[in-house]
Amino acid sequence: MNKRNYQKELDRIIEKNTRDGVTPRLLLHVCCAPCSSYCLEYLSDYFDITVYYFNPNITSPDEYAYRLSEEERYISLRDFKNPVSMTESDYDPQTFFDAVKGLEREPEGGRRCGRCFRLRLEASARKAKELGFDCFTTTLTISPLKNAALLNEIGEEMGAKYGVMWLPSDFKKKEGYKRSIVLSKEYDLYRQNYCGCVFSRKKEG
Ligand code: SF4
Repeated sequence: MNKRNYQKELDRIIEKNTRDGVTPRLLLHVCCAPCSSYCLEYLSDYFDITVYYFNPNITSPDEYAYRLSEEERYISLRDFKNPVSMTESDYDPQTFFDAVKGLEREPEGGRRCGRCFRLRLEASARKAKELGFDCFTTTLTISPLKNAALLNEIGEEMGAKYGVMWLPSDFKKKEGYKRSIVLSKEYDLYRQNYCGCVFSRKKEG
């Protein structure tokens, strides 16, 4: 079976929207400012974006709040072509611990991460439907450490479940990841050295 190229699929959607002269409303799930830096720069030319910061996987409340404030700061510093705003979400790390119960000892990139993606993408799909967005996606696909095919598979499943379009993405393509590093330096964004949950932090020692 041919491997899907999610970036090409996104290109085709953007080309069609441009031809049709439409700027769809996108709910963009954001994990942190560095990952969102390129995604917002790129997508805001074509979409009216609301950032959805829903990350109960971040175990430390201080870390959660710091990543959130960095996201707000980045948005306030940029002059985007189309509007970019943020919507609040509840922060309850227990929802993450419940979701990954029994998989605490899995390595990063293993089954625990699949559950973590599912938790965050299901909440994003639900929120996108509730607020009447045209589509939703996540910045998580920019990370070379995350399985973009799995993220797209779960995103499509959640889109179908809640009746809102999943925007295919693989933001590391087109030098997206490299650009995010450049932007993080330029805007002096906090770049954490672990993914977010207490288990990924342990791994860092
Ligand atoms: S390592 Fe990252 S993606 Fe995996 S479960 Fe922890 S926070 Fe979620």
